[in-house]
Amino acid sequence: MQALRERLLQEMQALRTVDCHSHTMLRRDYEALTDRSFFSMMTYFEREIAGATGMGSAQLYEGCTTDAERWERLKPVLLRTRNESYWRHNIVVYQQLFGLEDGELSDGNWAVVNDCIRERTAQPGWYEHVTNEVCGLQTQIRNVPWFEDWEPEYFTCVLRMEEALEQTNRANRERLEQHMDVSIGDLASLKATLVALIEEYQTMGSVGIKLAHAYRRTLSSDPVPEADAAGLFAQAVAGESLTWPERKAVEDHIIFFLAECCVEMGQVFQIHTGVQGNWGHVPDSDPLLLLPLVHAFRQVKFDLFHAGYPYSRELGMMAKHSPNVWLNMAWMYVITMEGSRQTLNEWIDLVPGDRLLGFGSDVGWPEFIYGHLVMARSCIADVLVTKVERDFLSEEAALSLVHQMLTDNAVALYGLAGEKS
Ligand SMILES: [Zn+2]
Repeated sequence: MQALRERLLQEMQALRTVDCHSHTMLRRDYEALTDRSFFSMMTYFEREIAGATGMGSAQLYEGCTTDAERWERLKPVLLRTRNESYWRHNIVVYQQLFGLEDGELSDGNWAVVNDCIRERTAQPGWYEHVTNEVCGLQTQIRNVPWFEDWEPEYFTCVLRMEEALEQTNRANRERLEQHMDVSIGDLASLKATLVALIEEYQTMGSVGIKLAHAYRRTLSSDPVPEADAAGLFAQAVAGESLTWPERKAVEDHIIFFLAECCVEMGQVFQIHTGVQGNWGHVPDSDPLLLLPLVHAFRQVKFDLFHAGYPYSRELGMMAKHSPNVWLNMAWMYVITMEGSRQTLNEWIDLVPGDRLLGFGSDVGWPEFIYGHLVMARSCIADVLVTKVERDFLSEEAALSLVHQMLTDNAVALYGLAGEKS
């Protein structure tokens, strides 16, 4: 079975992977940065620093003038938290790309890694080398905030839409009015403006829209009649402040409207489910709360993120019974490798292989895509070997799942011009 594991890993390394969810900084922004060091490239481990110390790294390092002083401050935090997966992600990156030969950072090696990061990331063409040659990415499906652009040689756009939900807020509305050069006096003109915005991005190559509202409110939304939403929105435009249930009614109405837009324009609807940040209200992120929306729009392709973790089993059954749901492993392997293995082990029994999206990097630094990819490939290989060994999956089916999960399904779902594997 070791031979099969090796074969699967080789197969994955040879693929032009589609990164199904990306926040990677643009090349022009990366190259404009003056500080690329061990301390500035912390990614998700920042959240563990905050969780463990009650402060961000800027505060943790306050008053430090040298990296050696910063290391002394970080060391005790690492001793408490280095078991966590977000840190192991960093370790994988240091080992694979920045010369770390040991299993952990220590007084004796942290500066070597730090120097290596500074030196390699300053090399001309490093960004291109990492994303294209090291990671072997075909494209990254990038979360693009309103009114921003992207670099099509690296990214495929999905337009992030939470601001559309918060248009009862005057400042948000004015921002939209200004950029689209319109005046939004009622719900009808808001909707027309949202359509124009999505169309504008679609013309430039955007393949979908994304909502991540589970960070601040429940995923539960109900159909709200047009007249009710229009009345509430008119009150907001008139300057009245709405209660949360009233604002939620407007938001819910817009969420359903966005699904209609996906039908009309053939856009994929990506939605964040599961995993939040520190102090997140976990039950708000349960993907089962999306059932009314998913059932109301059977023609829409829903691309649901982060394995809905910890509701991954529930999401698996939801996708089994909802043929319009795609299961996206974005972010998962750096959250928990074991949770990822358990999730994939069950999902492969439950849903057709062509609705599994096996990788989404969800990081800002390109180097950390690679660390995530290494963890993902390892988990996928572990799972597929287990399925062949114990669950009567054929080697042939296991190999084809690798291609489906890392490349082909994404090419089909997002309508990419690129190659299938
Ligand atoms: Zn994300």
